[in-house]
Amino acid sequence: MKQTLPVANTAEVRRHARRLAARHPRELGLTLGLHGLAAISGLAAPRLIGDLVEGVQHGTTAAKVNQVVLVIAVFVIVQSLLTRWARFRSFALGEKVLAELREEFVDNALALPIGTVERAGTGDLLSRTSRDVDALSRTVRFAVPETIVALVTTLFTVIATMLVGVWILVPLLVMVPLLVISTRWYLKRAKDGYLRENAAYAQMTSSLAETVEGARTVEALGLYDERVRRTDADIRGSYLAERYTLGLRTIWFPVVEVTYLVPLVGTLLFGGWLHINGHITLGAVTAGALYANQLIDPVDRLISWMDELQVGAASLARLLGITDVADDREPTGRKPSGELVEARDVRFSYVDGRDVLHGVDLVVQPGERIAMVGPSGAGKSTLGRLVAGIHPPRTGSVTVGGVGMTELDLADLRRQVALVTQEHHVFVGTLRDNLAMALPHPEHERDDDEKLWAALEAVDAREWAEVLPDGLDTRVGSGQVALTPGQAQQLALARLVLADPHTLVLDEATSLIDPRAARHLERSLAAVLEGRTVIAIAHRLYTAHDADRVAVVEDGRITELGSHDELVARNGSYAALWNSWHG
Ligand code: ADP
Repeated sequence: MKQTLPVANTAEVRRHARRLAARHPRELGLTLGLHGLAAISGLAAPRLIGDLVEGVQHGTTAAKVNQVVLVIAVFVIVQSLLTRWARFRSFALGEKVLAELREEFVDNALALPIGTVERAGTGDLLSRTSRDVDALSRTVRFAVPETIVALVTTLFTVIATMLVGVWILVPLLVMVPLLVISTRWYLKRAKDGYLRENAAYAQMTSSLAETVEGARTVEALGLYDERVRRTDADIRGSYLAERYTLGLRTIWFPVVEVTYLVPLVGTLLFGGWLHINGHITLGAVTAGALYANQLIDPVDRLISWMDELQVGAASLARLLGITDVADDREPTGRKPSGELVEARDVRFSYVDGRDVLHGVDLVVQPGERIAMVGPSGAGKSTLGRLVAGIHPPRTGSVTVGGVGMTELDLADLRRQVALVTQEHHVFVGTLRDNLAMALPHPEHERDDDEKLWAALEAVDAREWAEVLPDGLDTRVGSGQVALTPGQAQQLALARLVLADPHTLVLDEATSLIDPRAARHLERSLAAVLEGRTVIAIAHRLYTAHDADRVAVVEDGRITELGSHDELVARNGSYAALWNSWHG
């Protein structure tokens, strides 16, 4: 079973929401103030109508009526102007907060230890970046401002209602426990329901992505039925989760709808009774009933947005959750002295309790070429990743110049060791962007272009780069000028030249590249390797033959270590491998 990435708890979500609110006190104050004024100007009408009813009862003139109607009209116009302004301010504030949240999330997501993402499956992170960010946008854009408006309006309406007479508290207070009980019942169940809904969705995305990415494997191994069953199960899980929250809503909504009518009906009955008995005026009953009616709208909005706020809180919990992942890098600020790469008694596990490396020692001299060979699954790539500082060892140490790989901050690490794989991503942007990201300083400087051209030249890519329509300013990557896989690989190699690490870990699964491009690329690669320490995971034995030393990795251990000739003479695993390969 995959572990998903963590989810923040309620206290953390609340704390974060408070921090967000406190970040823009002035904007928030202005928004609240404007909404307050708008609400107040909406409260004049019932009072004026009440007075009018009272007036008509005792006899009044048409001019008097016209005057009151005019005043009401003025209040309505003022209210709509204020409301518009207030909404504008609160939506602007919402967008601002949303932008900050997105930026924070991107920062946090990029800081995630790669091992954690791999364990959780990329689907989880993907569904957080898409679905949860979307859900949160809706909440921050609409639910939060609308809730603020509704809250302010409710508050002022209740105050205005009480100014009509304290008696009105009786029907109002009858509504409160009904609302509180039903809403609590709902909220208690809703949060877990929505979290489950999101998790089910993530699970579905994850296994769909897996099926698509592994389509060839699925076809080759005849896993079709198994994948369909798996997808059916995921859809069923998602369906059940959605049905649960839908079930909650079908109970809660109708109860709430009925509850809204309680104050209005109560005010008319109770107020009418009081009026008949001569305790209050007809005007007061009218104003009270109008206020009770006017209260339905903001209370309803308050409550229905609460649902959306729950959805948003569930998403925020998932977005904040990734900050809970402990970073597996611990930069200490120590600088390496020298270029000696050492692995000492290294043990490592992807899954707790199941080590895939069982005490590996390896010392690589600066400038040395080491080839790692051995059966598939023996731990070569894992050791390579540890040497490249991608994972810290569980116990033991992997150091460069006496400093642990994961003690270096990422910028420092990149100047020491780099992992070179077949995976070459062309980022959407200019050719310059794609190269300059490897430079020590991220901002562009004037003489950088020369360095970029030199790097392209070093990997034999200058020729095609020069004929691109806009040179270094040509936009490449998805949807732009398409680069061939070979060119993408050269770009990656040019980045290495720019980053200039003294040690390269090479996972050379070259079988995937086009053989015609391969010769060309090998020249480019050789140029990059020149003068550097190289630890190559060799899939073809002639790499081993040409290396200074060969390390045979079997079952998470280095079982043989020496030059090609020494190992052949020893007549062990390597000799057997060599003989069978060499014929
Ligand atoms: P090699 O490169 O020699 O083929 P690997 O280092 O890829 O071997 O794998 C060593 C062991 O670690 C294998 O048993 C493999 O299944 C396991 N392994 C590799 N990557 C992961 C991963 N991301 N999560 C869990 N286990 C893994």
